[in-house]
Amino acid sequence: MAIKESQDKIDSILKERGWKYWSPLSQLARLTEETGELARVYNHIYGDKPKKLEEPKQSLSAEMGDILYTIICMANNEGINLDEALGIAVANATGRDKDRWKED
Ligand SMILES: [Mg+2]
Repeated sequence: MAIKESQDKIDSILKERGWKYWSPLSQLARLTEETGELARVYNHIYGDKPKKLEEPKQSLSAEMGDILYTIICMANNEGINLDEALGIAVANATGRDKDRWKED
């Protein structure tokens, strides 16, 4: 599924339920929260912070999904087509920055 399809689906769900997108700053705060949750899982898996026994199981996949959902809401609120945005980012990585991380 293209990202734009997910954007349209999420927009439809919000409209069906009469929900509004959060304000931009609240969306940014949520993205920061979700990024922190992803960092916590990474730290439990690869870092030095052990998980408490009573902590619920979290997954990288679930946290990445939360981040994508939040980014999609932010993009919809701003009228940004994420397929186009990702296309530009990939073009930059494969064109402009293609030699940037080469080892000599
Ligand atoms: Mg989360």
